[in-house]
Amino acid sequence: MLVLRVDDVAVAEEVSRAVHGLLDTGQRAKPVRFRGEVLLVLPQGSRELLDRLRTFPGVKQIHEIAVPYPLVSREWQPETTRVRVGNVTIGEGMPVVIAGPCSVESEVQVRAAADAAKRAGAHILRGGAYKPRTNPYSFQGLGETGLKLLRAAADAVGLPVVTEVMSPSAVDVVSRYADMLQVGTRSMANFDLLRALGSCGRPVLLKRGMSATVDEWLQAAEYIVAAGNSDVVLCERGIRSFDVATRNTLDLAGAVLAKQRSHLPVVVDPSHGTGVVDLIGPMSLAAVAAGVDGIMVEMHPNPKEAFSDGQQALTPVQLEELVAKVARLADSLSPVYAGPGPRREYGVRNS
Ligand code: PEP
Ligand code: MN
Repeated sequence: MLVLRVDDVAVAEEVSRAVHGLLDTGQRAKPVRFRGEVLLVLPQGSRELLDRLRTFPGVKQIHEIAVPYPLVSREWQPETTRVRVGNVTIGEGMPVVIAGPCSVESEVQVRAAADAAKRAGAHILRGGAYKPRTNPYSFQGLGETGLKLLRAAADAVGLPVVTEVMSPSAVDVVSRYADMLQVGTRSMANFDLLRALGSCGRPVLLKRGMSATVDEWLQAAEYIVAAGNSDVVLCERGIRSFDVATRNTLDLAGAVLAKQRSHLPVVVDPSHGTGVVDLIGPMSLAAVAAGVDGIMVEMHPNPKEAFSDGQQALTPVQLEELVAKVARLADSLSPVYAGPGPRREYGVRNS
């Protein structure tokens, strides 16, 4: 792929118009705004195309990038992107802990979950108000009511909040209540949704599709960045495999590979990645040891009564123990995490 740094949108449009006939995509390339710069991304094309591009006065630089996700690649930007979510920064610092219930169920439940997340020392609260359920008769989430309850619970304890958005038409309402918008595994290839998130003004947590390759996942992230939003965090949440002993196969190698290929921060979700509560702790620690930028775990005040995913939810006490272990491990690995980020507080220390 070719990435052109150009003077302004007018130059990008002029170049795009002029070289359209030399492209094999059948469409005119659109200018991309990336961290204050105007870019034009074109397919590699012919020698003739390169020669032509070099003749335009407003074209400052032409980069040739070997992968189909140029803007999210480390070739384009070697340093890890730091994504700000409320008062928390993800990327190139100590790992963050995102915790909370699978679904927002009631005011009492989400308040108890927020209190427990805060007490345990988690940094970001999670909880679904729009739930993508396999079965149409399963609990589908409380919708906007759930968003309001989640926001109020997060504000009461001073944590930022991430929640899922399933359709382009819900991007506005979810952006009003959430600090970060989550794209679930079933939506990773909803390209209309990815494009709509380009202009939502919020960071995006992009889960890997359960059958997606790492390359497909990174190209999904490229959709959001190409649409104007470079604040994307990748989330490995397990892929489908033949083994039914776990709900999914948590692909830690894929998470690390994504981190090596892309400058976007990567977090790991061992709750959906394994579906087994006893595997959440060990796999969280393995992910942190591997150098990822955070973990996302489900935690419910009373997992046995959860409306969804109770089998993979930590109790508040288990979360507290896990956060303490993550803190100790991250401290002992601090050379791995040495970066420009601030030291991170993990709340309660048990040792
Ligand atoms: C979730 O995090 O609530 C969720 C539905 O996860 P996934 O999209 O990974 O299944
Ligand atoms: Mn869940």
